[in-house]
Amino acid sequence: FARPRWVAQPDVRERAQRLSQKFEEAYGRAPVGVWAAPGRANLMGEYVDFSGGMCLPFAHQYVTLTAAAPREDGVLNAQSMQDADESVADGRPQSTRIEDIAPGAIPGWFGYVAGVAWGMNRVARGESAHPVAVTELELAADFGADLMVDSTVPIGAGLASSAALECSVALALFSLNTGQDHPDDPQRRALARSCIEAENHIVGANTGGLDQTASLRSHAGEILALDCRDFDVARLPADPALAGLTWLAVDTRAPHKLADGQYSSRRAECEAAAAVLGLPTLRDALPEAPTPDDAAAVLARFDHLLDAGAELTEDRAKTRLRLRHSMTEMVRSVQIAHEMRSDVPDWSRVGHLLVEGHESMRDDCQVTVPELDAAVDGCLSAGALGAKVVGGGFGGSVIALVPLESVERLAAAVQLCFTRNGFREPLFLTLQPSEAGRRIL
Ligand code: ADP
Ligand code: MG
Repeated sequence: FARPRWVAQPDVRERAQRLSQKFEEAYGRAPVGVWAAPGRANLMGEYVDFSGGMCLPFAHQYVTLTAAAPREDGVLNAQSMQDADESVADGRPQSTRIEDIAPGAIPGWFGYVAGVAWGMNRVARGESAHPVAVTELELAADFGADLMVDSTVPIGAGLASSAALECSVALALFSLNTGQDHPDDPQRRALARSCIEAENHIVGANTGGLDQTASLRSHAGEILALDCRDFDVARLPADPALAGLTWLAVDTRAPHKLADGQYSSRRAECEAAAAVLGLPTLRDALPEAPTPDDAAAVLARFDHLLDAGAELTEDRAKTRLRLRHSMTEMVRSVQIAHEMRSDVPDWSRVGHLLVEGHESMRDDCQVTVPELDAAVDGCLSAGALGAKVVGGGFGGSVIALVPLESVERLAAAVQLCFTRNGFREPLFLTLQPSEAGRRIL
């Protein structure tokens, strides 16, 4: 049997220097700088960000880099080092006038890039869904830029390469436009919002803000407790290494497409459940510190309202499953955050909650595929304390909490299980909670 394949730790400075050279070859001048933003893992709170729930993401050490130089003709040019990658269709050099960027106007991967420029203007003008008051984001009238991007984040693996791309572009454009290299937290919040606008309106993926917040606002060594009602964050300095544990990701390499409507349909089903309950969002159904009993009470109320004749546009059984996922998921986030706030976290309890989260994603949210379920089962039977799908599902990755000394053995066991099932060969990564996006060169 083949040995497990590991994704090498990224040498970010070396990649940035190489990208700088590539930029010069492509554009005939040196870039002004290189900016990086990481992808993320998420320990709990899948499919609840758009409902105002709590998520527990951390930025990992794999980043996307953007080399950039300004232009004064209102034109945005971009190229990607991944243009030959099977996951980046149409990798030719891309170009648009910034004033021409609009929903429906920018197809393919360039939407993630151009959308950010559009999103920054929108946020600066107070036109975004969650208005934030940061006017520095507005791009100068003649503002333009040449960009070259390179990703060390596996693309389409559920580890948020799309957010890493958006956020590195956002940091680059912000610096070129304002001359500021170190955005403060309110500015980072506004940049994250710009990236969400890009993904929602220009790319057309109705994601809720988890990924972009993690990419722009994480600190090294910490898990974010992200309250998606107001995008306030608390920081949980819980380090599993102190207990001899680490985070292992398995990229199943099963095909993964978020923009194909599955994510949006889950979101619509959650919104339908909120409508039955007569609430703006599903988070409003639960008290400040929700318990499993509170989650059960909401389901009972939903059943009662429907039996009493409340209207539901979606299929009843399906909507109830989505509601149950949302409620139990929001409670699990609170439970894990509580555990991580303790001086000595009970990691086996955390692991147990991760497994419950996976089961809810499989049975109630219904977004897993056989590769994801097999990866979780493989990790658990080889000694992981817990494992779950990370991100939107339908392919992508699993994250597992694993004793340091059994990482290799665990990877070999999962690899063997994939071979026996005839799945594509998985990739393995150890993930460390890492710093947010920043300037590299
Ligand atoms: P994930 O965010 O989990 O990696 P998504 O489907 O949300 O998966 O985003 C993947 C998409 O993001 C790619 O199909 C491509 O359009 C875009 N993308 C990400 N990184 C790059 C890159 N380095 N170059 C070009 N496009 C990229
Ligand atoms: Mg994504």
